[in-house]
Amino acid sequence: MKTLKEYLEDAEGKNVALGHFNISDTGGFEAIVKVARELNTPVIIGVSEGEREFLGLEEVVALVKVEREKGTPVFLNADHTYSVDKVREAVDKGFDAVIFDGASLSFEDNIEKTRECVEYARSKGVLVEGELGFIGKSSKILEGLPDGVSEETQTKPEEAKDFVEKTGIDLFAPSVGNVHGMVKSGNPNLNIDRIKAVREAVGIPLVLHGGSGISDGDFVEAINVGVRIIHINTELRVAYKEGLREGISGDEIAPYKFMKPGVEAMEEVVRRRVKLFSKLDA
Ligand code: 13P
Repeated sequence: MKTLKEYLEDAEGKNVALGHFNISDTGGFEAIVKVARELNTPVIIGVSEGEREFLGLEEVVALVKVEREKGTPVFLNADHTYSVDKVREAVDKGFDAVIFDGASLSFEDNIEKTRECVEYARSKGVLVEGELGFIGKSSKILEGLPDGVSEETQTKPEEAKDFVEKTGIDLFAPSVGNVHGMVKSGNPNLNIDRIKAVREAVGIPLVLHGGSGISDGDFVEAINVGVRIIHINTELRVAYKEGLREGISGDEIAPYKFMKPGVEAMEEVVRRRVKLFSKLDA
């Protein structure tokens, strides 16, 4: 099977993006891999520090390994990792990619720590993503834009170029109008011109975080100017909870039965997003 790096090169050639979906349990895992098998499309499973602690670091690595041995193109990413130690841990345990999230550090500290992660991960063939610019922290329903997110705080192309050159990262996550979570009154539009300018400045694939709540049209435009991975979490959480609510509404007490509507609801989200990101319907 191809490596994640090779699938990303394919995505660049085809001008499409890979979906990155967060999970907290095996229900989420099943929903995602079912779609990957069905559409024969590579997908990335993401686990934040909290998600991987709940699911188990070795357990999630094992799930992905077994599925890959069956031929499903599924990869594992250590989403938003706030310390170099936790990045090292994920690299050692067998993740395919890691994100060092230094967005709240000073520019210099972010560079220094991200570079440390790159040096460690590179020797083991693991991809490293770095971030610049704040986009909020929580995959949840938001009353309004998170404090500290505004057009002024969006990533500047020259800074991004400097950051990428000094760290040597493989993937870059900018702040370009995207936010983690879904704003009740609607998420802002993406700044497509900024995405294009950042992509041209950095010369490496871009990762769009905070995918939930973004319009289909914005996604397609963002992909067309160089976004190669798109993260979705809140939409899955909402779908799971709504499905579960339906599942537990009757007398059913078998978890594998009352959880099923939740898993199927997540599957629907993943299917719709993967088709859009891979331009399968186009
Ligand atoms: P959303 O929760 O907004 O989809 O963002 C997910 C994300 O970017 C995880 O890294």
